[in-house]
Amino acid sequence: MRSLITRPRALAVVLTGTALAFSPLGGSASARLPVDELRSLNCVTPAETGSAAKGGRGADHREMSAAEQRAVEARTAQILKAKAARGIAVPKGALAAASVPVYVHVMRDAAGNGDVTDTQIAQQMDVLNKTFAGGESASAANTGFTFNLVATYRYNNTNWHKDKQSATYRKQTRKGGANALNIWLVNFSYLGIATFPWDYSRNPGVDGIRVQYTSLPGGTATNYNLGETATHEAGHWFGLYHTFQGGCTATNDEVADTPAQSSSTNGCPVGRDSCSLPGLDPIHNYMDYSYDSCYNQFSPGQSTRISNMWTAYRA
Ligand SMILES: [Zn+2]
Repeated sequence: MRSLITRPRALAVVLTGTALAFSPLGGSASARLPVDELRSLNCVTPAETGSAAKGGRGADHREMSAAEQRAVEARTAQILKAKAARGIAVPKGALAAASVPVYVHVMRDAAGNGDVTDTQIAQQMDVLNKTFAGGESASAANTGFTFNLVATYRYNNTNWHKDKQSATYRKQTRKGGANALNIWLVNFSYLGIATFPWDYSRNPGVDGIRVQYTSLPGGTATNYNLGETATHEAGHWFGLYHTFQGGCTATNDEVADTPAQSSSTNGCPVGRDSCSLPGLDPIHNYMDYSYDSCYNQFSPGQSTRISNMWTAYRA
């Protein structure tokens, strides 16, 4: 069973960039799929394949090339400089902080699957607040960002539950501005998929994170049911890359205090050191692929990047 989880996960890294791959083996009985179907689901990119096929990549859920990464860094620096000139920047040495309005969209199917409880949603909010405050480790950064649940919406739509027509349903249901975190709870072959902040201006209607509903606290996604998938996806939404972005390169994820790693982590292999560059792999970092129980931190460097990206694109 493990190989079924780890192998598609590795493939998904190559194909999908920001998607955190997931085999719904731990899902409810109705969500279970035959092995063959499961494998094929994990070996293709989901809905966004359509937009890519029509020319260009989809606006979210995409792999960033080194060139695109450089372009984002240059554009971000330019925006921050322009904002500083207009007096909008965060003072030197300080970091941005904000209370993020959160809108949760519960996508239920015709049989009522996916109908997470208000208690689970409240627990998920607690996890977001704890993880972004650095509450799981003494070496974790307090990012200064908190999350405030504004509203929960529940829909009955089997297609939406399965994350079909996601660009359409997101545009129809999304709430708030660039600073609002929309979380769509669905049942798909991933743990979660996020949009990046620098894509907001081009396609604001789809901005947010899609999260496998069984990953919420108390859900059935074995090893991934402590609610930290939402933390990982929110990390992307704030502009963080995977800690294994770029592999064993000095630039890797554009964050200096997350040592380079050659590939994503599975489980919690303490001592893993997959690159000859300094430092052990940051397996406890929320932006790796480790088990929820292994995650315990964003780094100070990631907190600074979150602050910059927020100021540039979401403030
Ligand atoms: Zn990810």
